[in-house]
Amino acid sequence: MKKILLVGHCLLNTASKLKSYDLGDMEAEEALRRSLLKAAIDNGVQLLQLPCPELLQYGARRWGHTCDQFDNVFFRQRCREMLAPVVLQVQEYLANPQEYEILGILGIDGSPSCGVKYTCRGPWGGEFSGRDVSGVLKQCHLAEGRGVFMDTLLEMLGENGITLKCDGLFPPEPERAMAMVEGNVGVRKA
Ligand code: SF4
Repeated sequence: MKKILLVGHCLLNTASKLKSYDLGDMEAEEALRRSLLKAAIDNGVQLLQLPCPELLQYGARRWGHTCDQFDNVFFRQRCREMLAPVVLQVQEYLANPQEYEILGILGIDGSPSCGVKYTCRGPWGGEFSGRDVSGVLKQCHLAEGRGVFMDTLLEMLGENGITLKCDGLFPPEPERAMAMVEGNVGVRKA
């Protein structure tokens, strides 16, 4: 029996991540990422890598965004296009339960796209020039709620009668991510 966990793209490829300038945050996430990957290998968990929506939409030199900016019909449609092959793979694995068990989905908390328990919110947008943007930037904050990409994935799975356990990688709460590779059965087909 193969155990499969769907994971946010940058769990396996940090090159896709937005350039960060917060060393403390980066080191904490990297430490948890390494522990998680080691535990996945030790537990025989296969990692199905989701696409990185922000890299595919905006490239490597993108600015940071907030969930409020991505929560629009156009970005959601792009997410659907990226996720359609993933949903087909999930359906195929579920059609062969004697061979495969899907443990769930592990997103990246704090991301406007891949957050599961936490995303980031803020009324960003508009021209940078001609104004003092510091007040606007300060309004960006961690908030409970899903990122747009994860929300779309769960929506698409739901449309196909599939419910998967879903949690996020978040250094202040490492136990949530680690639990995902410890063999919890998390799939239900309605
Ligand atoms: S969009 Fe998702 S996969 Fe891409 S870098 Fe951000 S959190 Fe990682």
